[in-house]
Amino acid sequence: MRQMFVAGNWKMHGNKADIKSLITGLNAMSDRAGNAKVAICPPALYVDYVNRSLSASNIELGVQNIAEEPVQGAYTGEISADMVKDLGCQYVILGHSERRAIYKETDAEIANKVDTAIRSGLTPILCVGETLEEREAGQLEEVISTQINAVVAKVGINAFKNVVIAYEPVWAIGTGKTATAEQAQEVHAFIRNLLAGYDEGVASGIIIQYGGSVKPDNAKELFSQPDIDGGLIGGASLVAEDFMAICEAA
Ligand code: 13P
Repeated sequence: MRQMFVAGNWKMHGNKADIKSLITGLNAMSDRAGNAKVAICPPALYVDYVNRSLSASNIELGVQNIAEEPVQGAYTGEISADMVKDLGCQYVILGHSERRAIYKETDAEIANKVDTAIRSGLTPILCVGETLEEREAGQLEEVISTQINAVVAKVGINAFKNVVIAYEPVWAIGTGKTATAEQAQEVHAFIRNLLAGYDEGVASGIIIQYGGSVKPDNAKELFSQPDIDGGLIGGASLVAEDFMAICEAA
């Protein structure tokens, strides 16, 4: 039985005042998460501030990116997986479509970052997903397979015991256009099946989150699908009430 897992991706949002009030809300409402696992991923600069303000012991922490290179070194401006771990984080979001599209991160770079994260003891939340053009051109399965296979080729299937996958159709991110529960389930089942081709145990145990315009009013239906094990939440994770309502639905 897989545990439901809801993570908040704050993206590049927030300042100390906003974060203080958001964390106050999360601390007060954290018991609404029930048995679901919960994590929040603030901008890295605020992780320590969040960690010190967070009294809810059931909410874990993550970041939204790490350097490809491990540990430390002459990489101006970068943040290593070891540093992230050192500050008390357990997760790192990798391969988000915004990083793929805006910062031109390739499958090979993403695979290296997944490898680095695992070596540092972090759990990567590996994002995959197709654009609307790709979906309409019938390339959905090819796109998702390529994104996942590149990482399996680098780290090996056994390492996926320490990986969470987030299926985020690019056309559903920040657009208010959620994939229907059926559309999402179909792709989640495809991903699990793809992994089963490597290892059935890994496939049945891996957590696959859905991301893309998840809100309190659509979370329940999405999370009730057999292969949807929670969500990766953008906009709604910036509002304590909405985020905890989504956690409650998991
Ligand atoms: P929204 O929930 O704002 O659509 O963002 C989803 C996302 O990109 C989470 O990583």
